[in-house]
Amino acid sequence: MQISSETKSSDGTRKFLIELDDKKKIEAVLIFHKRTVCICISSQVGCAMKCSFCATGLMGFSRNLTKEEIVGQFNLLQSVCDRPITNIVFMGMGEPLHNYDNVVDAVNEFRKREISWKKITVSTVGLPDKIKQLAKDTQCCLALSLHAPNDELRSKLVPINQRFPIRELLDACKEFPVKNNLPVMIEYVLIKGVNDSQKCAEELATVLQILPNVMVNIIPYNSVAGIGYERPSLATAEEFKQILINAGYKTIIRTTKGVDTQAACGMLAVK
Ligand code: SF4
Repeated sequence: MQISSETKSSDGTRKFLIELDDKKKIEAVLIFHKRTVCICISSQVGCAMKCSFCATGLMGFSRNLTKEEIVGQFNLLQSVCDRPITNIVFMGMGEPLHNYDNVVDAVNEFRKREISWKKITVSTVGLPDKIKQLAKDTQCCLALSLHAPNDELRSKLVPINQRFPIRELLDACKEFPVKNNLPVMIEYVLIKGVNDSQKCAEELATVLQILPNVMVNIIPYNSVAGIGYERPSLATAEEFKQILINAGYKTIIRTTKGVDTQAACGMLAVK
């Protein structure tokens, strides 16, 4: 595998197009913060989950990445980065738990390199049995891509919800954290006029009560060509956040990086 091209955002985020040995292509991203460098890693070529807001979902599924190809993204990007990569998030192309064995092997390989489990986050749209299994097979943090507070809406945004409803997912998430008191991250892509109402925020606050320790990441939607959703205003995002904070949840609006080079959340897709 090799890097075939790189694009750099105005905020410093670096997106890499990586060509695999069979000529298929994936993307991985380096995101720079003051003290940390985070790699956003892909787990599959394309994705089978077809989330309606996601550029990768539009590509369809091609194949799983091997453990070597997952770890290889880290090795390749570290070789062109003059700061050590400190954090790993499985939030690139693909649903990590749909490629379970290879993702667990890769996480365990990173652990052998003494990267703390607190710095490794596996993100999933939610396969309950695999979430429970993940808690047994390795140590890492969990991010659940929820995006909606009820099954009717979530099934439209995240079709796999028709098989695994929210309650079942949240029950599975009770297996995390495996150690210490780190929260389960709840990812919520905020889409204008779809899931950004006050009512949605209140409903979310209620539904999350079954988990003892969560942190909510609000991610204002990044527009993708060919997908008709829009980004809400910052005021809407702030209002949504405040409702969750008032209900007692630690909540942040995630700073969006890499938008101008299509490197931000939900924007990865090999053209
Ligand atoms: S959001 Fe994640 S799981 Fe959903 S289609 Fe995109 S890459 Fe796949």
